[in-house]
Amino acid sequence: MDKSRVATLHQLLNQYNYEYHVLDNPSVPDAEYDQLLHELIAIEEAHPELKTDDSPTVRVGGTPLSRFEKVNHDTPMLSLSNAFSEADLRAFDERIVKDVGQVEYMVELKIDGLAVSLKYEKGKFVQGLTRGDGTTGENITENLKTIHAIPLSIDSPLTFEVRGEAYMPRKSFIKLNEQKEKLGETLAANPRNAAAGSLRQLDSKITAKRNLSVFLYSVNDLKELNAQSQSEALDKLDELGFVTNHERALCKNIDEVLQYIEKWTKLRNDLAYDIDGIVIKVNDLHKQQELGFTAKSPRWAIAYKFPAEEVVTTLLDIELSVGRTGVVTPTAVLEPVKVAGTTVSRASLHNEDLINEKDIRIGDSVVVKKAGDIIPEVVRVVMDRRKPDAVVFKYPEICPSCGHHLVRIEDEVAQRCINPKCDAKLVEGVNHFVSRTAMNIDGLGEKIVESLFNEDLIQDVADIYGLTKEMLLPMERMGEKKATKLLEAIENSKQNSLERLLFGLGIRHLGAKACQILAENYMTMDRLKTVTVDELVTINDIGHKMATSLVTYMENEDIIRLIDKLKDYGVNMSYTGTLKTEIEGHPAFEGKTIVLTGKLSVLSRQEATKQLTNLGAKVTSSVTKKTDLVIAGEDAGSKLVKAESLNIEIWSENDMVKALEDL
Ligand code: NAD
Repeated sequence: MDKSRVATLHQLLNQYNYEYHVLDNPSVPDAEYDQLLHELIAIEEAHPELKTDDSPTVRVGGTPLSRFEKVNHDTPMLSLSNAFSEADLRAFDERIVKDVGQVEYMVELKIDGLAVSLKYEKGKFVQGLTRGDGTTGENITENLKTIHAIPLSIDSPLTFEVRGEAYMPRKSFIKLNEQKEKLGETLAANPRNAAAGSLRQLDSKITAKRNLSVFLYSVNDLKELNAQSQSEALDKLDELGFVTNHERALCKNIDEVLQYIEKWTKLRNDLAYDIDGIVIKVNDLHKQQELGFTAKSPRWAIAYKFPAEEVVTTLLDIELSVGRTGVVTPTAVLEPVKVAGTTVSRASLHNEDLINEKDIRIGDSVVVKKAGDIIPEVVRVVMDRRKPDAVVFKYPEICPSCGHHLVRIEDEVAQRCINPKCDAKLVEGVNHFVSRTAMNIDGLGEKIVESLFNEDLIQDVADIYGLTKEMLLPMERMGEKKATKLLEAIENSKQNSLERLLFGLGIRHLGAKACQILAENYMTMDRLKTVTVDELVTINDIGHKMATSLVTYMENEDIIRLIDKLKDYGVNMSYTGTLKTEIEGHPAFEGKTIVLTGKLSVLSRQEATKQLTNLGAKVTSSVTKKTDLVIAGEDAGSKLVKAESLNIEIWSENDMVKALEDL
């Protein structure tokens, strides 16, 4: 084994530990740290002679800060060994069963904060410490006293030490970063680091403003509580007035543990605080004692870590694509990597300015994130790892599709191709036209649209209505049945109300809501062709930018020809919806009763519910005859089956995301 790799791992892990535990400012995601630590553990297992007493594999936390009084812990505050997969958990269980026989497990959420020890003497809170390096902690008593969830005295004369996790609720974190942004200060990376930074302030008035909280999960000397198990200990802490986390569960075996993990992997984003895994503890305290400890962690517990939401990978290339409005968007081509459970090989880079600001170069190691966001994005470059041959990306001056010169309009950051005949733009325009929120033509996927262009069967959106079975059948993977269905969908779309057509045309600055308002107010395409800016801006919610965009659009002769062509094919040009004085929602969701089911991987359930509700939908939990739409994520079960049996419209998560993006 290469000794120099061990030295490199020591050096990197010590550096990351220092940044994380002492500076509260990590430079790499946790997953990167965990991976390097596991590499070192594996090397040490295979070559015990390479294991040193100061190896990062046996050290807990970081050095306590000298600005606080250092206090020795009565018993060390340890770490937990980690599990990353079902196999790791089954191996843990097998070891437990082999050592002490079948056990019950107490499973708890792994709160992503920092460990604290609270000492009570005769029922009074007298001392609060951080974990520090496990042996010695920092005295942060005054700061901990500002946390309302920590009782300053309890209704019992007990002298004992309670341990738990102090954390910053997500709401407080968002507020803190909003304030920091206003003051031009560096933003906190995540709630954990913000909590750690807030608790290690010299001025406890600052800590008091940060709205921290705490969950208590253990007692140093369990005899004090007269508890026989972890579950009893937690119940007794509750009775004494401490805040414990009530999402805990008692599991009879490892299979039940796995079910609990599956449940919280789905629900974790709905919590008001961050969790980074699940802690699994042998419930029986006698069995815990029998199993004992290693130098770093108890043998009777393990922490299952959720799939990472931020990971490091290599940026292999930057590709450009042309959108329907001509905006040329750079996309990072990545060495494929698992992010939040799915493999990611591309990520948005948004625009040229962002590439320059973040100084992203081809060949760089980059942090990629997918937390709750629609498209994975490159968060930052790991500068320490930049290689000398990393290539600065030169933004092109011409459109990668048609070669026309790109322009930057006014103060926009985007580079645009303004050639109206640019193929890439036309294809994207058709994709938008047929999308769910626009003309909703089922069966016209991106691949088919591209082939139709390549075969010269369509040149613009109106040509869709000229397609015939004879034209479609020779296409790849296009059978008789598929062609018939597609033509039916095309025919049906002719009856759509005006707002869908208007939105489908993809007029700049006009989203689905604006199109709805315009259609409702003007009723026909003919009236929209002659409307003036002055007139338009008198309508609520129609701004000057939108008004000018519509008028300029309607002045274009090519556009008028296109609209006439659509009309000749029989596409409806008037508003057929019900009249409302004020439209607040989105045509696809407004007034609809929607049920979300299965595992959503792009938006959290909470976020999806929020967005749909904001757009006028009512999101309910059970599928009934009154349900209008079911949005089914991965592994959707009985609700999906019921929706099918009731003939309710079903969308995939992707359909929903696309419709939301179209806004
Ligand atoms: P750990 O976070 O894996 O687990 C131990 C901790 O879990 C305990 O100390 C306790 O504070 C906490 N915990 C939360 N809920 C709990 C519960 N219900 N019961 C028991 N404990 C609970 O181990 P660690 O030693 O604290 O720190 C390692 C963590 O820090 C890892 O997640 C690692 O990725 C991260 N880290 C990251 C970097 C970086 O550079 N990004 C560097 C060092 C460490």
